[in-house]
Amino acid sequence: MSSVRLEGIAKRFGPTEVIKQVDLAIESGEFVVFVGASGSGKSTLLRMIAGLEQPSEGTIRIGNRDVTDAPPSERGVSMVFQSYALYPHMTVRENIAFGLKLKRIGKTATEEAVQRAATMLEIEALLDRKPGQLSGGQRQRVAIARAIVREPDVFLFDEPLSNLDAALRTRTRMEIRQLHKSLGATMIYVTHDQVEAMSLADRMVILHDGHIEQVGPPAELYHRPATAYVAGFLGMPT
Ligand code: ADP
Ligand code: MG
Repeated sequence: MSSVRLEGIAKRFGPTEVIKQVDLAIESGEFVVFVGASGSGKSTLLRMIAGLEQPSEGTIRIGNRDVTDAPPSERGVSMVFQSYALYPHMTVRENIAFGLKLKRIGKTATEEAVQRAATMLEIEALLDRKPGQLSGGQRQRVAIARAIVREPDVFLFDEPLSNLDAALRTRTRMEIRQLHKSLGATMIYVTHDQVEAMSLADRMVILHDGHIEQVGPPAELYHRPATAYVAGFLGMPT
């Protein structure tokens, strides 16, 4: 596990500044949820941590390293997307093992690691299927297994439950929380759903129009919102 620090992060797409001077220190092993309305900049911020977008300004540190210019594969992070992003032509086993390609750990170690991840997510029976033969919930479990197998220091989740039905959302949410407990990894989780955020977060980061409105444990934000926006967003009368 690693700490993650964002220092003076700004992001512009052309003339539009979508992230404005974000400073944030995430502790090693913490479960932090970025929450905010659609378009508030959650995905952009997460993608910059993953190395999928380059900040226009500022520094990103993971552990003791400045990773601002490091490629995604060298950051020690694994990302789980809303859309699963599995390879349709590969089996589940191959999809999970793909996460280990760059590690070059050999066939036996790869097979063992895939088995461990599959056991953890209870998808052993699906290993020889292709993604097209899986339900949405099963696909998302495969995507999480693929993230786990790399043993990252930091997990990044971008609205991982959005394509699941309500019952499966609750179950998968609890599994992600359980995973955090057993792995002890740092997790950064993006959602637009304040209930989901409050049930998962050690600390919530409320994003609004590209800036941080407030950071704190769910109960603190709920009982002591710093701004009218936060109070409104968390569903309280102002
Ligand atoms: P969220 O994930 O909170 O819904 P995003 O980070 O996806 O928000 O987007 C934040 C803002 O940045 C939005 O206004 C969006 O239209 C804009 N944006 C995101 N990606 C791009 C891009 N590649 N080019 C131009 N604008 C973008
Ligand atoms: Mg988004």
